[in-house]
Amino acid sequence: MNYGRLEGNDVLEERILGKTNLKVKALGFGGIPIQRVSEEEAIEVVRRCYDLGINYFDTARLYSVSEDRIGKALEDVREKVFIATKSICRTESEFLQELDISLKDLRTEWIDVYQLHNVASKEDWIKISSRGGALEAAYKALDRGKIKHLGITSHNSSILTEIVKKDIFEVIQIPYNYLSLMAKEELLPLCNKKNVGTVIMKPMAGGEFSRADVALKFILKDENVDVVIPGMMSVVEVEENVAITSHPYDLSADDLKLIEEDKNRLGTQFCRGCDYCQPCPQEIPISNILRVESFVKRLKGTDKLKELVKGSKEKVDSCIDCGECESRCPYHLPIREMFHEKIEYIDRNIK
Ligand code: SF4
Ligand code: SF4
Repeated sequence: MNYGRLEGNDVLEERILGKTNLKVKALGFGGIPIQRVSEEEAIEVVRRCYDLGINYFDTARLYSVSEDRIGKALEDVREKVFIATKSICRTESEFLQELDISLKDLRTEWIDVYQLHNVASKEDWIKISSRGGALEAAYKALDRGKIKHLGITSHNSSILTEIVKKDIFEVIQIPYNYLSLMAKEELLPLCNKKNVGTVIMKPMAGGEFSRADVALKFILKDENVDVVIPGMMSVVEVEENVAITSHPYDLSADDLKLIEEDKNRLGTQFCRGCDYCQPCPQEIPISNILRVESFVKRLKGTDKLKELVKGSKEKVDSCIDCGECESRCPYHLPIREMFHEKIEYIDRNIK
């Protein structure tokens, strides 16, 4: 296959990723969907991104073969790209073991941005930052040069806002789109003030929005955003996204109308995965159950999907109807009503 660099690869806007000083293209690559295609297709997609000038590639230990495929695709151009990955491990020893697997799978001696993955609660942060926790491991890895910059990801912007104030991380990653605006008001301006790099995941709300161009332009218009990382699994998607983000990010009156229509259609039915509804006294993983359709889209046919939904019915049956989750959900989702639809969906679609 000819992987030569194509003409026109400098059309994407360049931004600086906070205090890392990495010069990243505003459009990056999200590595979840390449788990669902063949290895050959995955490598072709990653390589097409590189050919078209994308230089920030995000993946995670949790995304099964994603690191390995990105590693294979970018091995010979490693010094020209930035690779970000993440670990869900919370203890020092587990974190260091996972980091070594990431380095091996990504076929590299260093990770540009290594992130603590999905820090979802204060308790989670306490584990990470306590003696023997993942943060100690991350500092060691920084000292040894295995990690160049330290990042953190979460779906909860309040938790990230508190953590950013501690001045530990150089990069954060958070969902942000026109249905999930929590990060816009406080977290992203704070990151800008503190020169913390901002990486935006879920710009298209997991594929729920009507048009990708409107969704991406909405994010990139925000000057507090450094890089947006839509997941891509085909060359066509890569080319479309590059074309969209190679132009001014102005939104027309029709685009604004479409945003309003999407908001009305999805506003009180779409779980953003922020977990503001927690803690549930019955320890029901509310957002996992409410987002089942999105997991099916991303993980259909994998054991991971079965694992994610395992026991959902029993968990929902244990609900004591206290309503605490609904009073905490900032989007006023009818969580208990939605549970029943989702359990029916699981019965119909996941065997
Ligand atoms: S209503 Fe059910 S799901 Fe919600 S917090 Fe109470 S027990 Fe948990
Ligand atoms: S139910 Fe509401 S609070 Fe809970 S994760 Fe979904 S959007 Fe967030």
